[in-house]
Amino acid sequence: NLDLHRSEPCLFKQNYFLDKKLGSGAFAEVRIAINRVTGERFAAKIINRNRITQIDKRKKLDENFRIETSILSRVRHPAIVQVHGVFRETDYLYLVLDLASDGELFDEIVSRQYLSEDDSRRVLLQLLLAIRHLHRMGIVHRDIKLENILLADKQNLRLKLADFGLAKIVGEQTFMKTVCGTPMYVAPEVLTVRQVGMYDNLVDIWSLGVVLYICLCGFPPFSDELAPPPMRDQIIAGMYSFPSDPWDHISPEAIDLVCRMLQVDPRNRITVDQALAHPWLRARRTKGGWSL
Ligand code: ADP
Ligand code: MG
Repeated sequence: NLDLHRSEPCLFKQNYFLDKKLGSGAFAEVRIAINRVTGERFAAKIINRNRITQIDKRKKLDENFRIETSILSRVRHPAIVQVHGVFRETDYLYLVLDLASDGELFDEIVSRQYLSEDDSRRVLLQLLLAIRHLHRMGIVHRDIKLENILLADKQNLRLKLADFGLAKIVGEQTFMKTVCGTPMYVAPEVLTVRQVGMYDNLVDIWSLGVVLYICLCGFPPFSDELAPPPMRDQIIAGMYSFPSDPWDHISPEAIDLVCRMLQVDPRNRITVDQALAHPWLRARRTKGGWSL
């Protein structure tokens, strides 16, 4: 890719100045970027190409950035971060994104301990609409977790799904990514590297099931901190439970939806459209409690 190696000195810095750090990952740092002309605030995902010295690994990094950029620039949805600019310089790659100024859903849940059913429903509904949009475009996110779900407005729980660094176009021949870090949200068929084919996009439903479980109770369904077996084996076996505190106080409809999302065999897992039609998502709060 010729244009990656053309030097465009500091074009990013001519347009934006950088402010405080928002977060970081393995190769990226995310900071507030302010447009020098308009004063508008964005989030800039900055990748330092010099962190990687091996040529082939650097090529891989450039390729991942190209995929993340091309996928994100195609997508336009209120619950998905939008790209406002892409800058490729010799040493740095920059992705200018919508600023989700209220941080990660992860931190919000930690500070509230868990979310009410109404708030959990708000979260799940936005995420289901976002992944329905992605799946209709043939895109699988593959890395849905609380750290990649950002808050544009925490008062109203308005979300933005972020981090398309592992996303994939279904049917495109890309090699299987090794699962790095915690598999806490990873679907069993990914761990067993079974042929998934047409069930590809159901990996996102599994991860959303894990997200919903955590929203409702404040702890994860699978974890190495629980009794053995190791988390990986718990996931493959679909071994999780609903401890009576707090699950006894959670509606059976919510529990039913979690169970349908966390089906080990993707053929039995609820689809996006079925989930959107599930009674719990159609439930309306009334004074006396729950009505469907
Ligand atoms: P990585 O691929 O390294 O995980 P992410 O895209 O997930 O990179 O970004 C890392 C962290 O930076 C996120 O978990 C979040 O805390 C923060 N972040 C990323 N994008 C934004 C954004 N658009 N607005 C606010 N914070 C962001
Ligand atoms: Mg991330």
